[in-house]
Amino acid sequence: MTRSKILMIYTGGTIGMIENPETRALEPFDFSHLLQNVPKIRMLDFDIDHYEFPKPLDSSDIHPQHWGELARVIERNYNDYDGFVVLHGTDTMAFTASALSYMLENLNKPVIITGSQLPIGEVRTDGEENLITALQIAASRDEDGGPMVREVAILFANDLLRGNRSTKFSSDNFNAFTTNNYRNLASIGLGITFHPDSLWRPENPGELKVHTNMDCNVLYLDLFPGISESTVRHLLSTPNLKGVVLKTFGAGNGPTGEWFQSLLRQAIERDIVVVNVTQCMSGSVMPGRYKTGKVISDIGVVAGHDITSEAAITKLMYLFGRGLEPSEVREAMSRSLRGELSQ
Ligand code: ASP
Repeated sequence: MTRSKILMIYTGGTIGMIENPETRALEPFDFSHLLQNVPKIRMLDFDIDHYEFPKPLDSSDIHPQHWGELARVIERNYNDYDGFVVLHGTDTMAFTASALSYMLENLNKPVIITGSQLPIGEVRTDGEENLITALQIAASRDEDGGPMVREVAILFANDLLRGNRSTKFSSDNFNAFTTNNYRNLASIGLGITFHPDSLWRPENPGELKVHTNMDCNVLYLDLFPGISESTVRHLLSTPNLKGVVLKTFGAGNGPTGEWFQSLLRQAIERDIVVVNVTQCMSGSVMPGRYKTGKVISDIGVVAGHDITSEAAITKLMYLFGRGLEPSEVREAMSRSLRGELSQ
């Protein structure tokens, strides 16, 4: 078997940051700093090249254009490498992972996203372990010699998670990510134990097709008891609005007041696609279970099932970015494209 070749793509994030001596704030730093701090990389028995973003970013500054840049780098190098490791800040990692999963249609190689909670230069850093494990996963092969992972995944501490099923749940723990409605792709302990039943295997893997256009005319409408009519009206009147992720209570429920229903109805009549996603950390939207959920679905709000809010908003951006009609977007939102929902 030939040696694996992995491309490491550095976008920024805490993993490569250092402290500004004047302000004491962490700021993104260059890639050589990161490599100097992980000499163990040279002990891995595969070839590693790297690409770095011209200006490393704190991931709170990530924009869909950067997702496009990432997707293009993967596309350009797709045939030359066995896998890709993306180093990224944790704050928006789940959004990037979800977006890339849609943008990389027919992906049949690993794209493993990782980062760290402590900068790589710090004594107790989690960055070194995350980086090395991510590289090992990207180089892992199945029994036929093909890539073990053929999807966008997040590796963080002990978990390998499907990217579009992941959420950052802790700003503090080393285990910062979780997946609430899907199984881990692998468990990381003394060894790396893959869970083959959880891994994505495309039915008819075709040629990689990359879609980089994302439409940002979307928003979250996050419900809370007492949300006012003027707030909802204002949000739904946003110019050029095309898609809304409605974050609802429990199994997909919301207020039954006439004003609320009527504002949603008017938005849907204006061809805005509204998707129902639960605010709960786990579980699914079940539109017919309560009257408070049924009224929302009767108006024409699409059930997002058990999708995460990160995967839902990026999916709307992707589908509208592909130029689909609202009716086509509605249809695609209710089924799985890349394993992002159980339906
Ligand atoms: N603010 C940082 C970022 O997302 C946090 C991190 O990397 O953990 O880039």
